[in-house]
Amino acid sequence: MTSTLSFEVFPPNTQIGTSKLFKTLKELQQLKPDFISVTCSNNRQTIEETTLKVADYIHNQLQVPTIAHLPAAYLQKEQVAALLQQLDQSGIHQILALRGDILPEQTPKEDFVYASDLIAYIKNIAPQFHVSGACYPEIHPESANRVTDIKHLQQKVTVGCEQLITQLFFDNDLFYQFQESCYLADIKVPILAGIMPVVNRKQALRLVKTTNTKLPRKFLAILEKYEHDPVALKEAGLAYAIDQIIDLATQDVAGIHLYTMNNAEVAKHIWHHTKNVLNGQVKVG
Ligand code: FAD
Repeated sequence: MTSTLSFEVFPPNTQIGTSKLFKTLKELQQLKPDFISVTCSNNRQTIEETTLKVADYIHNQLQVPTIAHLPAAYLQKEQVAALLQQLDQSGIHQILALRGDILPEQTPKEDFVYASDLIAYIKNIAPQFHVSGACYPEIHPESANRVTDIKHLQQKVTVGCEQLITQLFFDNDLFYQFQESCYLADIKVPILAGIMPVVNRKQALRLVKTTNTKLPRKFLAILEKYEHDPVALKEAGLAYAIDQIIDLATQDVAGIHLYTMNNAEVAKHIWHHTKNVLNGQVKVG
């Protein structure tokens, strides 16, 4: 069985950052990924100028399939309908439907309380869209326990979610346990494993703060031992991600979704060391 390989990028805040991203995307295109997904900030008013612009470039200029992220907690139905129309006109028919984080200083709108509300809405008014959803091997931080979290995930799939992409994780065993729970709950859609290669200490510490992710002993040892040696830390961080991917591919994971942090060099390194293991889907040359 082959596993897909896809990348995530984020639209930068500046014009210079955007032209740099377009250069990065050209390099990612060479790796022939199954798709590239584009994140979308929850508090940005101008999705058209950020996510949609980058997704349009990937789909129409680079001819690479793309998934546009769409967090909807602060959107109303008419706004989502207009965005869907724009995506449709650009030929983009893949969406990662999200609720998005609730910002402490901003009350969310009431149209899309949960991602499942958005998924149901999209499938109702624009069934031509292929809809993915987010999932959390270590449980979404707001969930009381695994059982309710899986129940809500099941609801996403029931209303039309066709693929799941996980939050990043560093312990594959937690992913396998999560996969099993999904299977037992009759969630049979492909689950792509989100892998983030950690290449510096600051990045790793930020991740621990902002996500619910546990750092296994082996990973913590890397951070500690190479604390003052950024080159060695990067080498070890990349090797760790490669090791995770090889294990996942060996266990027939549906796909690897690489959080690239807009770093083509890192993506190329990972691709180079896993392309034969992932096999088939990643076409060389
Ligand atoms: P939901 O699926 O709605 O879940 C949110 C919480 O509500 C969970 O605890 C869930 O268990 C609970 N819940 C769900 N349904 C119900 C119900 N019926 N009753 C009671 N409780 C319920 N954020 C961005 O802003 N932009 C991005 O581009 C982005 N990309 C992401 C990509 C991936 C792969 C992942 C994993 C996350 C991404 N996020 C992004 C973060 C995401 O928006 C946050 O994690 C957010 O807090 C939850 O979004 P969700 O779609 O998972 O929400």
